[in-house]
Amino acid sequence: MKKSFLSCFAFFIMLCTNVAAHDDGGYLPLGDGHISTSPKVGYIYSCQTHFSQNAGGAFKSGDWISGDKWNPNAKPKVQGNVTWPNHFFTISTEGNKRIVTSNDLPDHPTGIFPIGYSDPAYSFDQNPNSIIKQSIALTMDLNPKLADKPSCLPMGMIGIALTGIAIFNGLDGMGRDAAAHEIQDSCNGHPEKNGAYHYHNLSPCMKDKSGKQGKHSDLVGYASDGFGIYGQFGENGKSLTNKDLDVCHGHTHLISWNGVPQEIYHYHVTKEYPYTLSCFRGKVSQKMKSAMPAKEDGPWPPNGRSGDSGGREEDRKIMEKVAQELNINFEDLRQAMGPPPPDFAGAAKKLGISEQKLHEAFRKAHN
Ligand SMILES: [Zn+2]
Ligand SMILES: [Zn+2]
Repeated sequence: MKKSFLSCFAFFIMLCTNVAAHDDGGYLPLGDGHISTSPKVGYIYSCQTHFSQNAGGAFKSGDWISGDKWNPNAKPKVQGNVTWPNHFFTISTEGNKRIVTSNDLPDHPTGIFPIGYSDPAYSFDQNPNSIIKQSIALTMDLNPKLADKPSCLPMGMIGIALTGIAIFNGLDGMGRDAAAHEIQDSCNGHPEKNGAYHYHNLSPCMKDKSGKQGKHSDLVGYASDGFGIYGQFGENGKSLTNKDLDVCHGHTHLISWNGVPQEIYHYHVTKEYPYTLSCFRGKVSQKMKSAMPAKEDGPWPPNGRSGDSGGREEDRKIMEKVAQELNINFEDLRQAMGPPPPDFAGAAKKLGISEQKLHEAFRKAHN
C-alpha cells in the first residue's frame, strides 16, 4: 500500500503547487445559466437549449463553488500520471486547406480514469469512463473568412488543441459551467461517454511560451471554423477577459498566421467563463460539425458504477486488505461500503462491527 500512500501524497503536493502557481487566480464568476439563443458577451450561444436536469456527471459540488463564484484552485483534481505513448497528431496543408488528424490521446499525462474509489475526487464526480482513442480528421480553410453572422456552438467538439485533444464548449451535460462543476485532471481534461478525452477550458498543459513571456499568446488550437485559438494573453501579454473580446470570444489584430504576420480574426481562451468560444464567427461545414460526434458529459450514475467491483486495482487492494484484517468476505465488505463517499457508520452496522474497528482497518490498509 506504499504506492497508494505515495500517490495520495503526490496529489496533495500537486494541489499545493497548483495553489502557489495561481495565486492571482482566486474566484471566477460561475457560468451557470449563461446560455443564450443569440450571440452575447459572457454567454454561450448554444445550439442545444434544453438540458436534462437529472443528468449525472459531477453529482455533488464542493465548497469551491460559493454563490455565483467558483475557485479553480480549491477544486480537487483527478489523481494519476498516465502517459500516452500512442499519441498521434498531424497538421498538413493541401491547396488552401489545413488537414488535422488526431487520435485524441494527449501529448501530456492524464489522471486515472475511471475515477478511482480511493481518489478524493470520487466523492464529487464518479466519471466511470476510460480514455479511449478516437479518430479525428478535420479539414479547414487555411485562411478562414468571417461568416455573415455568428452561429451557435454544438455540444461536443468545437475545436482541437495542439496537444491533440478535442475542445468542447464550456457546458456540461446539464448545461452548467462544466469547468466549475466537473472534476478534471491536472491538465483540465476528462473523458466523456465514448471515452473521448477533452477540455472545457484553459489547460495548463497547452503550450504557450510567448504568452508566459509577456507577449501575445501562442496558437494553442484551431476552432472548427478554421480560425486560430490562442492562449489567455493578448497584445503585450495582457491577460484577457470577456471585456476585451467580442460576442464569440475573439478579436481581430495583427498576428502571425500561417507563418505570416496578418490582421485576422482569432479566438482566445480565458480564465473566465465561457473559457474558449461563445459562438462561431466563421463558417462551419456540416462535415466539421460531425467530425467527432462526441457524447455530452454524463449522465453517469450518481451512485457508483455498474459491474465494477471496487474501481481500479489500487482500490480493490485496499478493500482486500481491509477484508483480510476484519476476517470477512471481500464481497460482503464491498457491498456494505457501497459507492463512495464511504458511509462508515452504515457499513459497520451492516457488518456487525464497531465503526471504530472499520476505520482502523482502513487506516491499517493505507499504511
Ligand atoms: Zn489576440
Ligand atoms: Zn466534459
